[in-house]
Amino acid sequence: MSLRISGRLRIAALLLVAAATPARAEWFQREEAIMGTRVAVELWSEDAALAARAMDAVIAEMRRTDELMSTYKPESQLSAVNAHAFEGPVEVDPEIIDVVARSFDFSRMSNGAFDVTYASVGHLYDYRAHQRPSKQQVAAALPGVDYRQVEVDRARNTIRFLRKGVRIDLGGIAKGYAVDRSIGILRGLGIEHAMVNAGGDTRLLGDRLGKPWIVGIRDPRNEGRMVTRLPLEDEAISTSGDYERYFEEDGVRYHHILVPGTGDVAREVRSATVIGADATLTDGLSTTVFVLGVQRGMELVSRLPGVEAVIVDKDGRIFYSDGLTPPQ
Ligand code: ADP
Ligand code: MG
Repeated sequence: MSLRISGRLRIAALLLVAAATPARAEWFQREEAIMGTRVAVELWSEDAALAARAMDAVIAEMRRTDELMSTYKPESQLSAVNAHAFEGPVEVDPEIIDVVARSFDFSRMSNGAFDVTYASVGHLYDYRAHQRPSKQQVAAALPGVDYRQVEVDRARNTIRFLRKGVRIDLGGIAKGYAVDRSIGILRGLGIEHAMVNAGGDTRLLGDRLGKPWIVGIRDPRNEGRMVTRLPLEDEAISTSGDYERYFEEDGVRYHHILVPGTGDVAREVRSATVIGADATLTDGLSTTVFVLGVQRGMELVSRLPGVEAVIVDKDGRIFYSDGLTPPQ
């Protein structure tokens, strides 16, 4: 005897099935304050549970890298390096070794304009308390600004400082690294369209469903205005600006990007934006180009395949690298 379901019952059963598996693809987004900045993730998914898991994983990864690489946290490995690496080699997580080694690439390609030991002078600034070092303090700390005084042992995962007073800080590259790690996690979960942003560093996975993502570059002197907008897919973009962390004294702006050679605040440009394949690259390069200024910065960018830049100089003029078409 075959089982028969009456017409009305069958419809009810079908409705139940439909309610249990909602196949509604949509955009999901989340924002949190991590790493002293705003972290945002936006992704496209047909599965709300997967989307939630993916966003949780990104936020967790951001917190993890922050714990690992922050110098604001006294218990972080990097703080231990700064406290003890002159006494002898300090063992750290291989990820820190990777990021420090990568930072040396930027140091070499820029003749030291990017240098994580900027912190030997940089730690004397307290932007919240509006404190800056005197000329004498800068002069005394300046010999510690030299990435060649940092010895990295890749086999033992150790860092040693060859000079007293050396400090490192990964603030110019760690956020880009965290963004890249996050994109890797999303990819691993099968996500194909996403945007991950940490402060000035953004990476895009795929396009925005058949259309490019549109990323705006803000006017350094007016938060509500855009200098330009760029259509991007599967790329990273980072902006370094003199408006992120600063204070003013007698009309002079003291911000968080320093010229390693002099220990002074970098004053050639107001913002440097770099577009490239990954966010560790664009983060490191945006800080590098900021220090180098328009001419030397654009020279460096033109030597690097697949890298473009938009620079706003100290007078507010906008410069585009050769591969970009400026708006008409
Ligand atoms: P943010 O998005 O925080 O503005 P940037 O990519 O512009 O980050 O980098 C600024 C940070 O880089 C500073 O807060 C500091 O930690 C670090 N930094 C400053 N000057 C240098 C330098 N010359 N080389 C490497 N890192 C630097
Ligand atoms: Mg940077």
